[in-house]
Amino acid sequence: MKSLLIKGAHVVTQNASREQIRCDVLVEGGLIRKVGKVQSGADEVIEADGDILIPGLVNAHSHVAMSIMKGVADDVPFPKFLERVFAIDSDRQEGDIMLGAQLGLAEMIRSGTTTFVDLYYSEDVIAKAVTESGIRGVLCWAVLDEEYTTQKGVPLDNCKHFHEEFKHVPRITPGIGLQGVYVCSPETFMAAEEFSQRTGALMHFHLSETRKEVYDHKAKTGMRPAEHLESIGVLSERCLAAHAAWLTINEVKALARNKCSVATCPVSNMKLATGGVAPLPEMFTHGVNVSLGTDGSTTNNGLDLLAEMKTLALIQKCYRWDPTVLPAQQVLDIATLGGAKALGMANAIGSIEEGKKADLVILDGKAPNLRPMRPDNLVSNIVYSGNSSNVKTVICDGNVVMRDRKILTMDESMVVAGSERAIKGLLERREH
Ligand SMILES: [Zn+2]
Repeated sequence: MKSLLIKGAHVVTQNASREQIRCDVLVEGGLIRKVGKVQSGADEVIEADGDILIPGLVNAHSHVAMSIMKGVADDVPFPKFLERVFAIDSDRQEGDIMLGAQLGLAEMIRSGTTTFVDLYYSEDVIAKAVTESGIRGVLCWAVLDEEYTTQKGVPLDNCKHFHEEFKHVPRITPGIGLQGVYVCSPETFMAAEEFSQRTGALMHFHLSETRKEVYDHKAKTGMRPAEHLESIGVLSERCLAAHAAWLTINEVKALARNKCSVATCPVSNMKLATGGVAPLPEMFTHGVNVSLGTDGSTTNNGLDLLAEMKTLALIQKCYRWDPTVLPAQQVLDIATLGGAKALGMANAIGSIEEGKKADLVILDGKAPNLRPMRPDNLVSNIVYSGNSSNVKTVICDGNVVMRDRKILTMDESMVVAGSERAIKGLLERREH
């Protein structure tokens, strides 16, 4: 059983009492065995004296393969954005999806993410990229009504097939993705829920991202989306709703009552100027679990959770005219423990505790932007002053995925060159 010893870091444990300890961390068999003084050696030793060790971050909403489509539809109104993105997306081949996923995975590793949630079709292709990358993917196959899909076959059947094929693959957790109420009928939601209940699979969907979506749904059904989903009996602790930006207090209570989690996506909402700000203070008051997502690279345009944490804090404070809203510790909780809980992985990831999986990120403790550093400003420094250039080393499942800023699991220059070629080809095909 291969062992790994990380020596001398400031460990931001994220345990129940949010302890920070200057100590060693011993990893064996993919698990954290000891957090404290370790006298013995190990197969591999990482000297992290003075560096900062945090749990791997959890990106709770993304479309990773869209990373090659960065910048194809910026600064345009939302309907035009959708038209352009869907047009390019419908032309994509497996190779383009693979390269898009690899590009996004490299970006996530470089910014300290070790687990991410994806919503897309062709998750079988993305699963191969995730497996090679060394990090964890909760891959939710996109399900929508047949009349709207470009998928071959029935989307829910494709999702079930993907689930069956990948449910035992290490670091891959297959889930059900639902595009949203605007393309998923109550019957589609109910069939997905039945499958989720039977298998325990996560049900991940876009919810109330735009005001138009909410008003259209109310005109059609007489109810707002979250109220409607509760009324048809599809909300449960297996639900993870992305955005949730246009909610009433009654809808927040409905999510809380049904133990649903939310993936808030502040940068995507701000960039698309959809106007809504997820009501996080009310979600916390009523007990909704909140996690953090970047959304895809056509709307963000990045997958950097360190940047996303700062933006989340700023938008919530700014919107409420209240600097006490969402303190740094709560933001870090959202990006670690909140994500873990949303995925049903609270016992496995999200904190640095003995017995949990060794998903760990080392930040450069000597970086000027993270200094001066004291116990009382360490978490603030990570959330407000940190950026992806501070990420030195990334460990997932006990394996070193990036060491001293070199990704060990993929040929980054090949991925970058390949993705340039892929998007060039796609854009040229559109023009002809
Ligand atoms: Zn999305």
